[in-house]
Amino acid sequence: MFEKVLIANRGEIALRIHRACREMGIKTVAVHSTADADAMHVRLANESVCIGPPPASESYLNIPAIISACEITGADAVHPGYGFLSENARFADILDAHGITFIGPTADHIRLMGDKIQAKVTARSLGIPCVPGSAGAIRTDEEAYEVAKETGYPVLVKAAAGGGGRGMKVARSEDELSGALSTARAEAKAAFGDDALYMEKYLGQPRHIEMQIIADSHGNVAHLGERDCSLQRRHQKVLEECPSPALNAVQRQKIGDIVRDAIAKLGYLGVGTIEFLYEDGEFYFIEMNTRLQVEHPITEAVTGIDIVREQIRIAAGLEMSFTQDDVTFSGHAIECRINAEDPRTFTPSPGTIKGFHTPGGLGVRVDSAAYSGYRIPPYYDSLIGKLVVHGRNRNECLMRLRRSLHEFVIDGIKTTIPLFQDLVNEPDFVNGDYHIHWLENYLRNKA
Ligand code: ADP
Repeated sequence: MFEKVLIANRGEIALRIHRACREMGIKTVAVHSTADADAMHVRLANESVCIGPPPASESYLNIPAIISACEITGADAVHPGYGFLSENARFADILDAHGITFIGPTADHIRLMGDKIQAKVTARSLGIPCVPGSAGAIRTDEEAYEVAKETGYPVLVKAAAGGGGRGMKVARSEDELSGALSTARAEAKAAFGDDALYMEKYLGQPRHIEMQIIADSHGNVAHLGERDCSLQRRHQKVLEECPSPALNAVQRQKIGDIVRDAIAKLGYLGVGTIEFLYEDGEFYFIEMNTRLQVEHPITEAVTGIDIVREQIRIAAGLEMSFTQDDVTFSGHAIECRINAEDPRTFTPSPGTIKGFHTPGGLGVRVDSAAYSGYRIPPYYDSLIGKLVVHGRNRNECLMRLRRSLHEFVIDGIKTTIPLFQDLVNEPDFVNGDYHIHWLENYLRNKA
């Protein structure tokens, strides 16, 4: 097992990883920018190294500084968390060249799934159902018109290097297609430096349902069920739940078997998430994330499995501590992403937290690196905490979520807590009756 893990991240996820390491008796190294010198992850880690000025490009994305921090402290592995360098294949390669273990999949798998066209071609070849669309990259506008004729309108033009919903454009008719292609191409070029595009049928009211998978180097592969992440704003997840209100045990097992077989064939190592759109009983692959996800705690709540701990074990060459047969799903869990944002306009609200009181009690988990007196720096994303609530069934979970949101106090800045307080009483949400566009419609009607 590793002796010392460097955590190449910040905020709640740095703390989350530190907690798993601490329980396993592994020492931790925090890295931080000058803006984060007082951060919780820095205070709790065994050692800390300042790796640069506030902008992430000069600190949390600064590969030479992070490698130096490993060498100075003698860390034998790096956990990248999510975001930042977590899906950077070059980073994984460089760590490897320095004899430091990257806690994640192989660089080749990161690269393969990072290219969304290759990912889709691979998924299809592994027997995973995909959204109908172009077989690979769209080379000419003529080709795009041909594909659209086959799938029917509306179609979605997407960037091969896409992420965070950028470089995505809908064309509702033939008239809109050439405009959508040129805008998506320009956006993709500007955001990712790569203007390769592909096309998919645009699904009207699907749900976003993703499967958590895990595999070790001893031939064990398992799925840990699904998460329903349909509540989104600008393609960003806002609230997630497990299990999905739309699936039954038979459907879960069917898609679970498909992804488990696929992951085994792929020879994948570590944890990952296969994301699907789900409409009229059918699953359609959209992408695979080769890292730990923000919403992993709801899966931990219903399975009782510490996903980060398993990730570390697998990276150290050990067997995962369970098999598929050991995995049981108990009750229901919901996560609310609490952001430092105005709950109506969603403009960021950095500043100093004057009062911070988290809810507690049975079935309540708060993952946050914030505290009373903490100054939220304006340089990074606005997630300041995750409220994760577990109950024996969805109804109990909702009741517990309502009272937890009532208890949660964050003074001095604006947060999205009031949004969730309203949402948990909305009949559609209470009935589990929503899709990926539901939240934006709801916000529009409320405005
Ligand atoms: P990104 O990597 O940019 O996040 P994804 O492919 O994961 O892009 O898609 C992000 C979101 O965009 C999905 O969760 C869904 O809301 C929407 N989306 C993606 N593909 C389609 C599609 N074919 N039809 C309708 N909506 C889609």
